[in-house]
Amino acid sequence: MAKEYEIVMGLEVHVELKTKTKIFCGCTTEFGGEPNSHCCPVCIGLPGALPVLNEEVLNYAIRAGLATNCEISRYSRQDRKHYFYPDLPTSYQISQGDKALCHNGHLDIEVKGRTKSIGITRIHIEEDAGKLIHKEGVGTLVDYNRSGVPLIEIVSEPDLRSGEEVKAYLQKLRAIMLYIDVSDCKMNEGSFRCDVNLSVREKGSSEFGVRAEIKNLNSFQSIMKAIEYESGRQIKEINEGGTLIQETRRFDQETGKTYSMRKKEDALDYRYLPDPDLMPIVIDDELIKSIKDSLPELPDTRKSNYMKKYGLSSYDAEQLVSSKDVANYFESAVKLSKDTKTLANLMISEVFRFIDNDEFKEPFPAEYLGELVNLIEAEIINISTSKKIIEEMTNSSKTPAQIVKDKDFEQINDKEVLSPIIDEAIGNSQKAVEEYKSGKEKALQSIIGQIMRATRGKANPQVVNELLLERLIEES
Ligand code: ADP
Ligand code: MG
Ligand code: ZN
Repeated sequence: MAKEYEIVMGLEVHVELKTKTKIFCGCTTEFGGEPNSHCCPVCIGLPGALPVLNEEVLNYAIRAGLATNCEISRYSRQDRKHYFYPDLPTSYQISQGDKALCHNGHLDIEVKGRTKSIGITRIHIEEDAGKLIHKEGVGTLVDYNRSGVPLIEIVSEPDLRSGEEVKAYLQKLRAIMLYIDVSDCKMNEGSFRCDVNLSVREKGSSEFGVRAEIKNLNSFQSIMKAIEYESGRQIKEINEGGTLIQETRRFDQETGKTYSMRKKEDALDYRYLPDPDLMPIVIDDELIKSIKDSLPELPDTRKSNYMKKYGLSSYDAEQLVSSKDVANYFESAVKLSKDTKTLANLMISEVFRFIDNDEFKEPFPAEYLGELVNLIEAEIINISTSKKIIEEMTNSSKTPAQIVKDKDFEQINDKEVLSPIIDEAIGNSQKAVEEYKSGKEKALQSIIGQIMRATRGKANPQVVNELLLERLIEES
């Protein structure tokens, strides 16, 4: 019998902080710009230049720690982590080794109707590296504008078991970072990026397998694909009697596969040592308290408010609070709408398709959405027509009522009008009618489908259902 495997994952998420200036110098952190124009002797690592810690980085990192239920270290240290790469001018990155600023946190995710707590091992501060640019026919160029941009690295426990959980974790983490306003979290600009550590093990086993760290994941789509490919690869390797080695792998978007980059370094290889130019970081209770008091409402609080106030399910509420802008948009629509549940459903199943994750822009005014829900509530249109209207609203500035009028979308509620259409559909569907009578409830769907097509989707589904059942009972 084929063995059953379980996937085990832990994430390292890098978040670029929104400070105005870099972590150890006064250069701007602005994204882009003429290559090497946001640089100074400190951030390009010239000999003799001295780093001075930007205090704002600590405030932001502590905010992130408190918002993810971490303990804040009263004493932590900044260490040099040595490795050679051309985008790292000093040949060491200033990071934190065993004494991280925050540790022992967790956050809750919602998957398949269950809440699961994912452990956060630690959050530490560090500097970003520069960027290599590979130019055809020219060679490899280096841009140090990003060098020294402050980062926090959020390391999770190996608590994640599926792509779905990873996605929920990242969405939640990103939502929290956006709520507390420490980063703009743009995946496409690299200000929120993640490495996935993945291993597999036989189901029921209590030991972890050998992990691979997958890098270069810059969209949710890449992450999901990489997890699927890499877990399949590891299982295959084990089933064929091979051995896995701990390594760093790169995900290639083109092929959808992961490729070995290097054997994984151990902490020892990095020769962590305290940076002699930087003082230990000492944090007092007062600072922690003042940051705690300044935290805004977090997604989980907003979520439970939505559940209480609007009677939404945990899943629906979780989706709606996943971005502050989306939640605010939803709340503007709620003010006008007479049915919050329908509104929530439309938001999640339809409107979300027109919202860009990285850059929120209203697809159409929130008031229109509220108005649309009220048209459904008043039985002027049905749900399926409302979807067409949503689509239409994204390309025009018309109100829902105008669109209903212009496109003749009004729902047909009148039994007199619907009766002959229903009779005709029954007449055309003798086979389905027989099936229904012999107990196959599903057979009705094809008849209803015909009626909907005949009315361009405008028939009131409830009235159709009633009339149809009446007719079929009469017939038998
Ligand atoms: P490194 O510096 O080697 O990358 P870190 O401590 O920064 O190590 O990160 C290790 C990550 O790998 C953590 O997120 C942890 O949860 C995860 N991890 C550790 N062991 C395993 C394993 N066997 N399978 C999957 N993930 C693992
Ligand atoms: Mg790491
Ligand atoms: Zn600088």
